[in-house]
Amino acid sequence: MRTPVLAGNWKMYLTPAEGRQMIEALRPLVEGVADREIVLCPPFTALAAAADAIEGSNISIGGQNVHPAREGAFTGEIAPPMLKALGCRYVIIGHSERRQYFGETDATVAEKVRAALAEELIPIVCVGETLEQREKGVTNPVVEIQVRQGLDGLSPEELSGLIIAYEPIWAIGTGRTASPDDAQQVCAFIRSVMARLAGEGAQKTRILYGGSVKPDNIKELMNQPDIDGALVGGASLKAESFARIVRFE
Ligand code: PEP
Repeated sequence: MRTPVLAGNWKMYLTPAEGRQMIEALRPLVEGVADREIVLCPPFTALAAAADAIEGSNISIGGQNVHPAREGAFTGEIAPPMLKALGCRYVIIGHSERRQYFGETDATVAEKVRAALAEELIPIVCVGETLEQREKGVTNPVVEIQVRQGLDGLSPEELSGLIIAYEPIWAIGTGRTASPDDAQQVCAFIRSVMARLAGEGAQKTRILYGGSVKPDNIKELMNQPDIDGALVGGASLKAESFARIVRFE
C-alpha cells in the first residue's frame, strides 16, 4: 500500500564528475524497477550534474538541507525554489549531523519542513536518539518530541505526504545497525504518534530506517511492517551496493 523509498545521502562526498559516473553505473542496475522510489541526495555542487545524469530514468534527486526563506541575504544557504529549479523532488531535513554540528533544532526543522512543502518538495524528516538516550530507555519520548515539534502545525494531508526517517544516531556511519525488531518497534511507535496527529493519514506516511543499511541487512529490514524503505549513507556512494539495496538483494 505504501510505495517503498530507497534514498541515498551522499553527505559531503563526490564531485559532479564522480556523481555523474556513479549514476551512469547505477542506471542499468536499477532499470525497470518500478514499484519503489529511488532517490539520491548529492551535495549541492553535484545536483546539476546529477539532474542531467538521471534524465529519463527511474531515479529522482533531493537536497540534503534547505534554508526556510524563499530568498534573501543568507550567505552560503540554498532556498527551496533553488532546489526545485534544479529538479529536486525531495529534501532531507534535520539529519542528525545537521543537528549535532550545525545547531539545528526541532524548531528550525519545523520551519524548513513548512518551507519545503510550500515549494512542493517532499521532506525526508530525520529523527533518532543518541546511544545514551537509548541506554536510559527514553528512545520513544525523545523521538515523539522530535516528531511533534518538527512537524508542528501541519495539516493531516501534509503529514501523510511527507517521509520520516528514523535514524538512531549510534547506528549512523558506525557499522552498527539497529536490529530489525528494534527498528520496527520505533517505526511502529512513530506511526502511532502520526496517527494521533494525522488520523487515518498516518497509514500513508512513509517511515524509513537509516543507520548502517547495507545490501546484507536491507531484506530483513524491509520485511518489517512499519519500515517503508531506507535512508542510506555510506552504501549509497557506490552504484553496486546501492543497487543491491534498491533491489533488496
Ligand atoms: C545517513 O547518513 O543518514 C546514514 C544512515 O548513514 P550510514 O548509512 O552511513 O550509516
